[in-house]
Amino acid sequence: MHVISTRGGDRCSVVEALSRGLARDGGLYVPEHWLRFTIDDFAGRDTLADVAAVLLRPFLADSPLADQVDAICTEALDFDTPLVALNDGRTHLLELFHGPTGAFKDVGARVLAACLSRLRAPDAPDLTVLVATSGDTGSAVAGAFHRRKGFKVAVLFPDQGVSPRQKHLLSCFGDNVRSFAVDGTFDDCQAMVKAAFANTALMAAVPLTSANSISIGRLLPQMAYYAQAALRHARSGGRPMNFAIPSGNLGNALAAIWVRALGLPIGEIAIVSNANRVLPDFFATGEYQPRPSVATIANAMDVGAPSNLERLRAGFAETGGLHTLSVDDDTIRRRVPAFLAEFDTVICPHTACAAEFVARRRAGGDDRDWAIAATAHPAKFESVVEPLIGRTITVPATLARWLDQPAQAEPLAAEAEALATALRRG
Ligand SMILES: *Cc1c(COP(=O)(O)O)cnc(C)c1O
Repeated sequence: MHVISTRGGDRCSVVEALSRGLARDGGLYVPEHWLRFTIDDFAGRDTLADVAAVLLRPFLADSPLADQVDAICTEALDFDTPLVALNDGRTHLLELFHGPTGAFKDVGARVLAACLSRLRAPDAPDLTVLVATSGDTGSAVAGAFHRRKGFKVAVLFPDQGVSPRQKHLLSCFGDNVRSFAVDGTFDDCQAMVKAAFANTALMAAVPLTSANSISIGRLLPQMAYYAQAALRHARSGGRPMNFAIPSGNLGNALAAIWVRALGLPIGEIAIVSNANRVLPDFFATGEYQPRPSVATIANAMDVGAPSNLERLRAGFAETGGLHTLSVDDDTIRRRVPAFLAEFDTVICPHTACAAEFVARRRAGGDDRDWAIAATAHPAKFESVVEPLIGRTITVPATLARWLDQPAQAEPLAAEAEALATALRRG
């Protein structure tokens, strides 16, 4: 299948779009056609890898990866994303945190890595995946490319802007992964990465590629867990499932909107932001007003200019049945313990935003089925969550494995030149 740019000036195969990230005209790639799937297309398919393979096969048809779709999905998606019914029988938690770094970003990053490593020519020079992160993206991408032949990873994170456990996770991989603790903000990290991609001399010496959340190679695989949950719910006789999704750059929520556009039984979709309210304001006014991000306790959603919105604004998918809400830190602080009291379940600060949306629907008399997307394991945000609930959170074995490793990050000044020098040094 082909993809086209939101700005109308580029069209290429999905596989080319995977390697390229941003479209050649500066826009974002979106599918050229909206296929239609039915529940029957997924007969006998229930694991995350199986559902992903059905969804991705038409996108990769007629490509060098066409006959490797099953192998890619089996290799990348060797964990589950369970839909857990909570004790009121109608609220569900879609647990997206069972991957190796404990956040939903493992899904997209691992499929992208499995695709790119198969597309790489055996004699090609090493490719460095350069990524700026406010936390979870960096560890997911580092984990996905860790020890992959032909790839290196360089992760930039704001030294003061991540939790101690996030910092450890970002710095513990070693081998082909380098971690840079930048003396600056996440915006500084992003500016440094952008400058590196614009530096043609550097790019010639050190071939770079990106794996950020605008890559269609991360978006498409994310459709799998919404499809899987919707199918499981439909097969057990439920009405179309409604989803409440914590959102920053809209990457995760867009996957739900897209998979609904492909015909899967999904009802309403709530896009729930923290105090960075560009998305809710856009839906309320129709005007897109990016602004500097503000720091919150749900820091993976601290986005002031959500680039993925361009994919919605370009009008490429049905946007009916969408809700938005902005949730401030005080409300998150109340929702985490309230959720624990009501459902005996500890959630992360991001998940709490979506939980707040559902709580408000319940208060308004909505008794339909809602699934809250649990985007990260609460143990990753222990410094925020533990004081709120007054107890320690058990670290799952998948995360503990990494946290037990020694960690080492290289300090880096927040200057483009410092990054270029470090990358050339290799
Ligand atoms: C990245 C992230 C989000 C936001 O995802 P977007 O795709 O940017 O909307 C929410 N929660 C957690 C835990 C994350 O890591």
